[in-house]
Order: sequence, then structure tokens, then C-alpha cells
Amino acid sequence: MRATTIHAPGDIRFEEVPDPVIEEPTDAIVKVVAGCICGSDLWPYRGHNDITAGSTIGHECVGVVEEVGREVRDVKVGDFVVVPFDHCDNTCAHCRAGMQSACVNLGITQSGQGEYARVTQADGSLVATDGMPDDHLIPSLLALTDVMATGWHAAVAAGVRRGGTAVVVGDGAVGLSGVLAAAQMGAERVIAMSRHEPRQEIARAFGATDIVAERGEEGEARIAELTGGIGADAVLECVGTDGAMKTAFAVARPGATVGFVGVPHGVELPVRRMFQKNVGLAGGMAPVRRYLPDLLERVLSGSIDPGRVFDLTLPMSESAEGYRAMDERRAIKVLLQP
Ligand SMILES: [Zn+2]
Ligand SMILES: [Zn+2]
Repeated sequence: MRATTIHAPGDIRFEEVPDPVIEEPTDAIVKVVAGCICGSDLWPYRGHNDITAGSTIGHECVGVVEEVGREVRDVKVGDFVVVPFDHCDNTCAHCRAGMQSACVNLGITQSGQGEYARVTQADGSLVATDGMPDDHLIPSLLALTDVMATGWHAAVAAGVRRGGTAVVVGDGAVGLSGVLAAAQMGAERVIAMSRHEPRQEIARAFGATDIVAERGEEGEARIAELTGGIGADAVLECVGTDGAMKTAFAVARPGATVGFVGVPHGVELPVRRMFQKNVGLAGGMAPVRRYLPDLLERVLSGSIDPGRVFDLTLPMSESAEGYRAMDERRAIKVLLQP
């Protein structure tokens, strides 16, 4: 098959690689209908993560089941499926406790920006739609494979509640999804931190009531002002840098929780502030499968449209340009079509 591969920082190619095959009887092979580039793919692209030269990249895709292993019962060849980036059996103790991202049989999609992807624990992982979805739903279904579920997880971890105030740090696709999640959960005030006009517009469409364009201490002061000096009831940290985490803790009111879902890079926690103000930290890698049935229902009923985060669609063969566009912040999130 042809798939997107990474050879070195900044070196993305679309080339022939071996077809993924059924390796375990619980596997499925999915023919990718749409894949996309994730903000976390930019970490290796920018040289912040180790790279195995020539390995496939991309952990987000939806598609049609092409082949199943002999123990797969619930999904069938021909089903259209949403593929959570983190595969799980959905039956072990951690899955039953809602922590599918820590499944004892955890797997991760490896070639979501290629023509085919292998899904481990197919019965536990995959959620099939009733027949082929309309084309216009594909971007929103694709968003469920990671960013929307991750934004949702940030809101759950932060304890967003009806009538409360939520601050979202980060205006990437996950941050914007976090805005949508907080609004869906009934937060009365959703404050999105964003300096970029197109992202502010999506944040508003997703339910942000206030936009704070300032960053760092100025942004923190602005949020103090907006909350009458009290701070936010819930804070969603959707970036993963030290600066974003510092801002998140600075704007959290005493007793609040910061829900963090950005992959942490170089973060030092302000433990003294956490202690003095009783501000907690919860979250981590999103248990996507836990939220999929509910989120799928919301997409199919038209109550959420998380696919709006895709502002550039390219043929998969131009995935290198997609990475450049996201790296240079010319695009929020890039959808790739095989
Ligand atoms: Zn992702
Ligand atoms: Zn499990």
C-alpha cells in the first residue's frame, strides 16, 4: 500500500510500504476512507520526539472493514467504522473502569495517513455506523477518533458542570473540541484563549462566550478580570507545554481541577500553588472508546459538528504539504483523502 512515512524531522513522504496484515485473531484491517494529521504528529515532525526513519505515521482514521481475524465477532467486512486512535479490548478491569487508554491490550493506530490500517482488539475498539454515512458527516466522524474525544476527556477530567465557568487553554483542534465539549456539558461561560481570528470564529461557533487573545500573564490577568477575581471552575489544558500548564493553574479558582490532555513536553508542575490553592490535576491520554457511543450519537443527530476543525483537505499523496501547513499554522487541522 501507499502510506505517509516520516524519515527525519521535516521529512514526510508518501510511499510504498508493506500492507498491514492480520497478526492476531482479534485484529481487523480497515481500508481508510479519511485520515488526518494530529497536533501530536508535529512533535516528531519538529524533532521533539525520537523517529524511526521510514516508519508510518498517523493515528486518526475512519474507514471500511476489509478483513477480520478469526476471533472477531462484532464487526464485519464492509462495516463503516470509527477507529479510536487507542485500541482496547473494552473488557479488562481498566476498560470496565472507563480507562480504555490504559487497557492491558492497548494498541495504537499506526498508519492512519495510509491506505490501510491494522486495528488490534477490533471488537473492543471499533464502533460501526448503521450503513455508509453521508459524505458530509465524514469529517465529524473522523474528529471522534481523537480530537473531539480528547477535548471531551479534558472537560470530564476538569469537572465541567452546568452553570459553571470553563477556561480552555489552547486553540488547536483539541482546544476547540474542548470548547464544544464544555458548552455541551452546560458550562454557562466558556472562555477560549486564542490569538487567531479563524480559530476564534470556530470557538464562538462551538459555544465560547468569551475570547481572550492575550497570552501568559496578560491572559491570566484578563481571565481574573472576567471572573471577578475568582478564577475558573474548570480549566482544560489542551497544549502540553510548560507555559500552557502554568496559565492553566494560574486561572483555576481555589478547589478547581485542571483537566490536561496535551501530551506534556518539558512541563514542571507548580506544586506549591496546587497545594496552597487546592487545585488538582486530572486527565491524560483520552479513553476514546469510552466516549464514542455518546459522541457518535451527537454527531449523527446533528447536535455537534466537530468536523469544523478541518480547514484544509488534501489528497493523501500530498501529506507532506499538510504537515507544512499545520507546522506553519496555515491550517488548524488537515484532512487527508486516499
Ligand atoms: Zn491525534
Ligand atoms: Zn481493556
